[in-house]
Order: sequence, then structure tokens, then C-alpha cells
Amino acid sequence: MADILRAVKGMNDILPPSVPRSDRLPDSALWQWFETTVRSVLARYGYQNLITPVVEPTALFVRGLGEVTDIVEKEMYSFEDSMNGDRLTLRPEATAGIVRAMVEHNALYNGPLRIWLMGPMFRHEKPQKGRYRQFHQLDVEALGYAGPDVDAEMILMVRTLWRELGLVEGRHVRLELNSLGQPDERRAHREALVKHFEQHADALDEDSRRRLHSNPLRILDTKNPAMQAVVESAPKLIDLLGEASLAHFNAVRAVLDAAGLEYRINPRLVRGMDYYNLTVFEWVTDHLGSQGTVCGGGRYDGLIEQLGGKPAPAVGFGLGIERLLLLIQELGLPVPSGAPLAYAVIPSPALVPKAAVTLEALRAAGLSVLMHAGGGSMKSQFKRADASGARYALIFGEDEVARGEVALKDLRNAEAPQRSLPLTGAAAWAAELLNA
Ligand code: ATP
Ligand code: MG
Repeated sequence: MADILRAVKGMNDILPPSVPRSDRLPDSALWQWFETTVRSVLARYGYQNLITPVVEPTALFVRGLGEVTDIVEKEMYSFEDSMNGDRLTLRPEATAGIVRAMVEHNALYNGPLRIWLMGPMFRHEKPQKGRYRQFHQLDVEALGYAGPDVDAEMILMVRTLWRELGLVEGRHVRLELNSLGQPDERRAHREALVKHFEQHADALDEDSRRRLHSNPLRILDTKNPAMQAVVESAPKLIDLLGEASLAHFNAVRAVLDAAGLEYRINPRLVRGMDYYNLTVFEWVTDHLGSQGTVCGGGRYDGLIEQLGGKPAPAVGFGLGIERLLLLIQELGLPVPSGAPLAYAVIPSPALVPKAAVTLEALRAAGLSVLMHAGGGSMKSQFKRADASGARYALIFGEDEVARGEVALKDLRNAEAPQRSLPLTGAAAWAAELLNA
């Protein structure tokens, strides 16, 4: 046999629940349930779906995210199109592509837009639990809105999503909030920061020393534990905010307070991209080790203009789907199994036509039924029925079918007596099984 080929390091298959895997990554049933829940919540808030290409011009991210960011400096999968020499990049995040598409299609011409996108992102990082080279995000953007109303609504929408997934805010996930102010306030802060870090240059690591003059704000985003003290004592932007920025921040807080959502103001929250201003937030958890941020976002009022569009404000967030599903799994929250409700046991191939007609009627009535295909002994078929996780077995035995019936056996309750049900008019008892 030839050698088997393997997936690229840090890029994972999302497998069906019936395929066991050793690394305990969430299965596709969990993904499906997450996606269904997300679609339902987003629809209730009036968000519309957008799908953009996975590959974009490299220049989009260099211009959009900022040259001196972790992503652009060392995490992008960039390559040259061998056909025409174009510089291309597998998208490391969604916002730049969404803004590119909206500008290209003049989408804000008729007013603001609420948009969401779900799909793979690519970053060349060290793979570990909750950190992959291909990962997936739900990305949500409100374009053309100045806030603060929509900033707060967006945060509350995430809380609704948590609740519908069974996560409790405050216990399983916590909200952290900050304001990055406006460019002039950031400039003043930047000067104060440079001064502070220059005074403590010996405490900086190599990355930070390099960034001291190019992008000192990024130093606050460091993951180096040895630098926590010097970062902790640095001047805080929130103390330098002007009246308008403070009013925006307080207006966001007023909505969250009224809705009873608790949060922590974290002056160190700066986010990893350069485009943010005013409101920034992260939803974090203590249950995933160091990969604790499941959702992060904020306002980026300058990005649309920076990418060639007519100036328009915007706010958005990205949610890491793998991390979120790992968290749900870790907490042992109840999740749908993805198992069929019934498994059809058909001992003889001659009975398949009659069985198939009944199964079609059951599915039309909304029942999920897995038909045993490929024949085999009753014993082996029951083994499959059990392994499928189905609650019931429907047994299309020779005698039953001759009487115009099918036998129903409860696989999860040995005490429950076997029942006979009519082959025709299956819709009537399908409803009973669905609600049992
Ligand atoms: P981190 O600080 O953990 O690297 P980030 O600030 O780079 O996160 P964002 O760019 O804000 O992350 O992306 C939004 C979300 O996407 C993150 O909060 C996280 O849940 C998820 N995410 C980011 N990078 C990865 C990755 N390499 N693997 C899995 N999920 C990721
Ligand atoms: Mg990162």
C-alpha cells in the first residue's frame, strides 16, 4: 500500500460524530448545532449573510491591518500566483475582506448594513489547543453606523448567543471592555507610552524594543510574562480620553448596565489590529488555559476610508468557533448528539421497497431515520442500530410487513414493550414519536 497523506500541520478535519478521534476536537454535529443557533440569533437582530473569497490581494491586509502587527509580520500565508505573479494571501481575518467587498460594490450607498460571515481563516501560528493554522470564525460587522447604540446591541447579541448555546455569562464567559479613543488621543497616549517604555528599556524583550518606536501600543498586547510589570505600570489611554470619546464609552455602558450585563473595564485591552478606535471588547473564559479569548471586536471608523471607500464608521467582532466549541465540550454542556431518532432494520432485501415507502413518509413528517443498507443478519443490523445512537429501531420483519405493519422497539428502554404500527399513514404515529 502507498503511504497515506496527511492534512497540513495545524489544519484539521471536522469529522462526523460516528468517527472517533484521539485529539477530542469537536465533531461536525456540534458545528451544525452552533451554525443553526448562530443563524437563528443573527436573523433576529436583522443581520444578513455575506460570503467573500478565502484568497485576497496581500495588499488588502497590509493596508488594512497595519504593517507592524503580529498577523502581517509573521502569521500570513502569502504566495505568488504562479500564473501571473499576483501577490495573494489566504485571509487571516474577515473584516478587511468584508470592507473590501462592501466598498467594491458600493454597498453603503443606500444606507448602513448589518453583515455576518462564517468561514475559515489562516494564520501561521504554533499549533496548540485552541490555536490552529486553519481555524474558523463567525464574523459580524455593522457598517455605516456611528454607535454607540449598535456597539452595545452587538455585545448584547453575543450574550443572546451564549444563552442559546447554554453558556452562562459571568460564569463561563466574561465581558471585558475598553475604549481606544480617537487617533489624536491615541497619539498623546503613544507619546506617553514611548516615554514610559524608554525609561524601562531594559525590561523589554527584543520584539518590544523593535516596536518601541514603530508601534508601542502593540507592546501592551505582549504575551511575555516577564514583561507584565512594565506593561502594568504604563500610562492608560482611558485616563487620556476627551469628552466625546468618554461620552461614547459611557453610552455603551449605559445600555449594558440597563440590560443587566456585567463587564470589567480592562484598560490593557488593545486588540491585535491597528484599525480599532473607541469601543473594543473581548469575551474571555478561564476554562481554556491561555487561549482564553473566544470573541473579540470593536469599532473601526477609519478602515473603510483607508481601504478606498467613502468615509463611514463601523463596528464588528470575530468569534473563534473552535475555541467556543472546545469550551462547550470542556464544560460538559448538553448538546445535541446528531443521532437519528430511528434506525430501520430490514432483514430481507425483498422487503426494502415497502420499507422505503414508509421511511419516505416518516422523513416527510420530519423524523430522522437511518435505513440499514447492505443487508446482513438481524444481529449485525441491531448492533448498527445501537451504535447509531438512535432511540428506536423500526423492524421491517417478514411477518410484520405481511400484516401491513412495522415493529417499533425502544432501544434505550428495555422495559418498554415492542409495538406494532401500520405501514400506511405513518405520518400519524411519526408525530407521536417526535414528541415522545
Ligand atoms: P489571540 O490573542 O488568542 O491570538 P487574536 O487577538 O489574534 O487572538 P482575533 O484576531 O481577534 O484574535 O480573532 C478573533 C477570535 O478568533 C479570537 O478571539 C479567537 O477566538 C479566534 N482565533 C484567533 N486566532 C486563532 C487561531 N490561530 N486558532 C483558533 N482560533 C483563533
Ligand atoms: Mg493572535
